[in-house]
Amino acid sequence: MLDVHTFVIIMYTVTVKTRKFRVTIDQNRCKGCLLCVAFCPKQVLEMEKAEARVAEPDACIGCLLCEILCPDFAISVNKIEEKHDA
Ligand code: SF4
Ligand code: SF4
Repeated sequence: MLDVHTFVIIMYTVTVKTRKFRVTIDQNRCKGCLLCVAFCPKQVLEMEKAEARVAEPDACIGCLLCEILCPDFAISVNKIEEKHDA
């Protein structure tokens, strides 16, 4: 089984660095366990008043660790679709 560090490296490698991701935290579900903040490899998340919040949205690499680790299913990470002119 992959350890967390190896998982992050693989996800970062297969993710195009210029892609943008939107991290959403459902504050009604967050119990403030700190897991997402502790494991985010890019310090995107931080705690504020015992709840997680998105502090550095542009730094997200879309590794999904926060979404996977959150025990309360409070986080969703989605790729921001790029608009192309016709
Ligand atoms: S892992 Fe989930 S419950 Fe824990 S602080 Fe982060 S958002 Fe909140
Ligand atoms: S997907 Fe989650 S854990 Fe990964 S960089 Fe973005 S905010 Fe951090």
